[in-house]
Amino acid sequence: PFHKSKGQHILKNPLLIDSIIQKSGIKPTDVILEIGPGTGNLTKKLLEAGKSVVAVELDPRMVLELQRRFQGTPFSSRLKVIQGDVLKCDLPYFDICVANIPYQISSPLTFKLLSHRPLFRCAVIMFQREFAMRLVAQPGDTLYCRLSVNTQLLARVSHLLKVGRNNFRPPPKVDSSVVRIEPRKPLPPVNFKEWDGLVRICFNRKNKTLGSIFRQKTVLSLLEKNYKTLQALQLSHDGSLDDTEMALAVSALGNSLEDLSMDVDDGKDDEEMEVDDGNAKGSEFKEKVLNVLKQGDFEEKRSSKLTQTDFMFLLSLFNKAGIHFS
Ligand code: SAM
Repeated sequence: PFHKSKGQHILKNPLLIDSIIQKSGIKPTDVILEIGPGTGNLTKKLLEAGKSVVAVELDPRMVLELQRRFQGTPFSSRLKVIQGDVLKCDLPYFDICVANIPYQISSPLTFKLLSHRPLFRCAVIMFQREFAMRLVAQPGDTLYCRLSVNTQLLARVSHLLKVGRNNFRPPPKVDSSVVRIEPRKPLPPVNFKEWDGLVRICFNRKNKTLGSIFRQKTVLSLLEKNYKTLQALQLSHDGSLDDTEMALAVSALGNSLEDLSMDVDDGKDDEEMEVDDGNAKGSEFKEKVLNVLKQGDFEEKRSSKLTQTDFMFLLSLFNKAGIHFS
């Protein structure tokens, strides 16, 4: 009856559901968004704790089952079920999101939520354990990656609960964790497109020094192309985005973060660098780039150790030198 492809793993342990509810800090006045309610085990307790629940479910059979479960109960007037793909539908207003999601949509969903306006108070979500550990990873942790940096730019993230696979029917192949995501209000004043452009380059080889990353020909030619385009257009690139551009940019932060296969790092260090042919063409621009790194003392640093503040500082130095990432 359960579709593996839709990530259908039903929560069977009522104590675990209680603990998720308790840790999520739902208020009686809250409109709750649930994604993938399935048969409604979590939905029922959400309805007991909040004012109303909007549940988005892809599988029409589950939608029917859910409606049947609450039909004729006092809950039915406080539950709205939307049938569809959560990644494709417009989300309604909500105060808090609590969900046991299908793991294959983890990163696009996270950034879809974070681009939603008005910003919600918090999201309490079950993720695959490794994805959860990447979300909360700090500089220096092995799992620190583009996902950690981009999520933590927009939200405070904390690990709430480890959940073994046997709490689900059928049990998934991996363990899980519940994570709390609280959007930062206000959001930091950065251009998210530029931010992601920089962070992608830095984490492409996160254990190399920035000096060697920014000496790569592919990186230099990309940046030089941007540089020349902007100069030619004589754009006053002040980096500000309107609301629509902002929402697009935020959801794009999750782009091609193929859940868990992202940030492949060969673990090798600087040895096998692209050969620097030292030809004079373009070396002026290269000096410009390397000067930026020197200014901020970044040449010998590695992305795996850089904090949010470091990345912001680095981006501002590049921008001041007229170098842009989008
Ligand atoms: N919340 C239930 C529970 O905890 O017992 C079920 C969770 S199950 C891991 C994920 C649910 O999400 C399934 O019911 C599945 O049909 C639904 N689903 C899968 N992909 C979806 C999508 N793109 N949009 C909305 N729901 C989806």
